[in-house]
Amino acid sequence: MTLHDPSTQVPPVTPRRLLPPAPVVPPTLGLPLSAYRQRARRRLQATDALTVVLAASVAVAVALYLSDGGASGFGTPSGFLTSLGVVAGLAAMDLVLVMFLLSARVPAIDRTIGQDKALALHGALGKPILYLLAAHGALLLLGYAATEGISPITEAFSLWASGRNLQWAVVSLGLFTLVAVTSLVAVKRRLDQEVWHAIHLLTYAAVALSIPHQFSLSGLFSPGTLQRWYWLTLMILTGAAVLAYRVLVPLTRSLRHQVRITRVTGVAPGVVTIDMTGRDLERLHAQAGQFFIWRFLTPELWWQPHPFSVSAPPTRTSLRITVRNLGAGTARLMDIRPGTRVAIEGPYGIFTEAARTSRHVLLVGSGIGNAPIRGLLEGLTFLPGDATVILRASSPAEVYLLDEISALCEYRGARLFVLTGRRATGHSSWLPATAVGAGYTLASYLPAGQVPDVYVCGPLPWTDLVRQDALDAGIPAGSIHAEKFAL
Ligand SMILES: Cc1cc2nc3c(=O)[nH]c(=O)nc-3n(C[C@H](O)[C@H](O)[C@H](O)COP(=O)(O)OP(=O)(O)OC[C@H]3O[C@@H](n4cnc5c(N)ncnc54)[C@H](O)[C@@H]3O)c2cc1C
Repeated sequence: MTLHDPSTQVPPVTPRRLLPPAPVVPPTLGLPLSAYRQRARRRLQATDALTVVLAASVAVAVALYLSDGGASGFGTPSGFLTSLGVVAGLAAMDLVLVMFLLSARVPAIDRTIGQDKALALHGALGKPILYLLAAHGALLLLGYAATEGISPITEAFSLWASGRNLQWAVVSLGLFTLVAVTSLVAVKRRLDQEVWHAIHLLTYAAVALSIPHQFSLSGLFSPGTLQRWYWLTLMILTGAAVLAYRVLVPLTRSLRHQVRITRVTGVAPGVVTIDMTGRDLERLHAQAGQFFIWRFLTPELWWQPHPFSVSAPPTRTSLRITVRNLGAGTARLMDIRPGTRVAIEGPYGIFTEAARTSRHVLLVGSGIGNAPIRGLLEGLTFLPGDATVILRASSPAEVYLLDEISALCEYRGARLFVLTGRRATGHSSWLPATAVGAGYTLASYLPAGQVPDVYVCGPLPWTDLVRQDALDAGIPAGSIHAEKFAL
């Protein structure tokens, strides 16, 4: 089935047995347009507030230092170097704590910007932090050496000999460097996800090793100062958030909900749907489009956390994912046994109804990206005629979940286009060559006048091309929602 002509939808294929079970939230008539806009505005305001709070924390840390006597240090050349070194160290430490908070899966952050954006920001902070830490070490060394009138090398030896706290701080800088280097895209690609993750966890050790020198050297955080209270509070709150949301909440949820596999169904070669059941699953408040981090508790898999999106709206008793074999871990899931217990972390993400800004929706999926698209098609609220689905693949065999998506489109009154075939050479488009040749763009597949929310999930470069085409079609950036299968 290769239908590139936007006037030709996929004919309905609706065997009765494919009709979906009743969703937790039954399809409704949707919210009035003003309500969608109001919700989108509130989320933007929350995003701005979050950005201001995170940036302000660095400003507060520096301001506290300056007002606590630090400003007077800038008077002499050696004092200038030392004070600037301290400011660099404080900014770095503050950003490290911000980084921890961004990856701690704090619900308020997830609901505001989503895990993917939070983790992208977390990653983007890595290099600036490393530069600030390097500047911290170098400036302090030069400043101390200038004060004592000795060479920086002699000063380095003298500082190293001054005690354990400083030696740990140097080890901490080494660990930060290791984590930053292994997180560079080119290096990360060569490492197993688990090896990279283990190295990444060393950031916690790096912070722990740096704390003693902050409290013991230079009297910066001496008892009774405002700075001491600020930093202690920040560190304790961050530590508590990491412990709560990365360890305790997942542990209690896994124990409470007792998730186990009920069925594994082949969807296509190398793709399976895994149905699971559990207790009181409605208390997870999971929505179509969200993902969990799953640990399948078999001897080979329990230590590997895998993010997978739900491919159907979760119900009181069921969770469902669709998985493509893309590596050693997913290969093992192809024939995992019913009855296997599953530990869960989540639900996460705002690739959901929560991101809506319009009553119209366009769902665009490719490859295993069809999994959350199928879930959204079943779970989003829209009226017949208000939704369009586009599935893109190189060949018909790779249009995963087509039967179910097709049945759901008919059931819910959504338009479906299946676009198969090779990409145009020498032309960067997400569409097949034949569609490009005919002059079609994303807008060609939308009813005239519709400015929908676009939900797109597929390979990363392809997703970027869809996004660009949507922008070219006049769809605002805030209405384009992409789920990237890379954390
Ligand atoms: C938010 C999100 C939702 C996803 N939803 C689905 C889905 O519904 N169906 C599906 O088939 N796949 C999904 N994926 C991709 C899936 O997580 C990986 O394909 C899977 O974890 C690969 O594991 P592996 O051991 O088989 O392969 P590996 O050989 O370990 O890795 C193959 C690829 O997957 C990436 N990967 C591996 N483990 C992780 C991890 N813990 N976090 C992030 N990336 C990882 C690697 O970087 C690599 O690019 C999703 C990914 C994310 C981030």
